[in-house]
Amino acid sequence: MRLARRSFALALAGLPLARLHPAGAQAAPPILLDNVRYFDGRAMTAPARLLMIDGTLRILGADAAPNGAQRVDLTGRYVIPALIAAHSHIGHTSGDTSGRQYYTRENVEAQLRRYQAFGIGAAASLGLNAPLFHALRAESRAGRLPGALLLGAGPGLGMPEGAPPAGPMNLSDDQVIRPADPAAMRQGVNDLADKGIDLVKIWIDGLGDTVPQMTPDMARAAVEAAHARGLKVAAHIHDLSQARLAVEADVDVLAHGIRDKEIDDGLLASMRDRGTWYIPTIQIDEAEYIYADNPAIIEDPFLRAALSTGMIARMQDPARRTAQLGRAAPRRSDVRINKLNLKRIHDAGVPVAFGTDSGGTPLRVQGFAEHRELELMVEAGLTAAQTLDIATARSAQLLGLTDRGSVRDGLRADLVVLEADPLANIRNTRRIARVYQAGREVAGPIT
Ligand SMILES: [Zn+2]
Repeated sequence: MRLARRSFALALAGLPLARLHPAGAQAAPPILLDNVRYFDGRAMTAPARLLMIDGTLRILGADAAPNGAQRVDLTGRYVIPALIAAHSHIGHTSGDTSGRQYYTRENVEAQLRRYQAFGIGAAASLGLNAPLFHALRAESRAGRLPGALLLGAGPGLGMPEGAPPAGPMNLSDDQVIRPADPAAMRQGVNDLADKGIDLVKIWIDGLGDTVPQMTPDMARAAVEAAHARGLKVAAHIHDLSQARLAVEADVDVLAHGIRDKEIDDGLLASMRDRGTWYIPTIQIDEAEYIYADNPAIIEDPFLRAALSTGMIARMQDPARRTAQLGRAAPRRSDVRINKLNLKRIHDAGVPVAFGTDSGGTPLRVQGFAEHRELELMVEAGLTAAQTLDIATARSAQLLGLTDRGSVRDGLRADLVVLEADPLANIRNTRRIARVYQAGREVAGPIT
């Protein structure tokens, strides 16, 4: 026992304590998670002991007995790192509507808490953010904003009169920058870098030739300016041709799946050679029909916990259901092709990250969409372990979050405790027992 205490004290001595106390955040008391099986990036470990101290993880030997830590017996439970959503939108929807008026501190905080309750420890808001974003992002980084860590692109940049369409999406001028030429594009990127962003978002999509598609010189201008500031560029695309344009412009991240055609070997090789990231967002299209297809799903308590009463009423409205089903055929095709492309892209060794576009519209239900996306990725042919690795460590890597994304000595104690093994059935990610953020219990079961 003396030896165990001594090794525990030595282990603590190695902790860089100063960086663990962000201004305004009080240290959580130490907690020992005992008899816990955790996801190590490939598999569930044998039962182990995890100490959470000063917001950070220590993996202890079986004989270590730290004094003073609150012991929590997790026999029969499973721990995964908190999920990381690399493509979402925060502060753009409220209930069953969306618009600029919802970009408020209160709404952003509420949505960050929602993500956190659903086991998502960090979320990147990829565009449509009003100017308040930059201050909220800084507060979140400093540990002064509740809920999931807020990252994002600020407003993002698109073509004049291009995507995202201002009218249909109820967007105001401060939610998307629309530069007129490459020089203005470079200036726009530089201005955002000065204000504080985590990556640059551009919209390439011409929305089926209904609006101007981003030209290659504009995409290249964004990439050059972003790379000069050490920032990655994520591009909204839908079609294979748009993906090719983005990759040839040296864009770092395709922020949606390729959904009109199966990817060809040339583009596949190009993405692999350049290390282009791929975020499939399969759920974005499924969200347009899944609730109309299967009204009973609305009774699912896990989904219901993520819905306002207004949204439940909208989903149950027979006229809206009929209209949705009438428009569903192309969306079903999108999902089918998206799954095929995800499997091919992942198998080819192209880096894949996790995101759903949740919060972009009210039907893209924050929290629920992420757990459904995990399931869709497994349906596409990835293993549950590959899927969880993408939704944690890989997405942390994409976003430059070196302090989280894995259960590892010295990383942040952002963990989700599950009642059942997610590698046995990916739907078990929904069986949340509790959520820890920086070693502090912040949420319990959803239902
Ligand atoms: Zn989006």
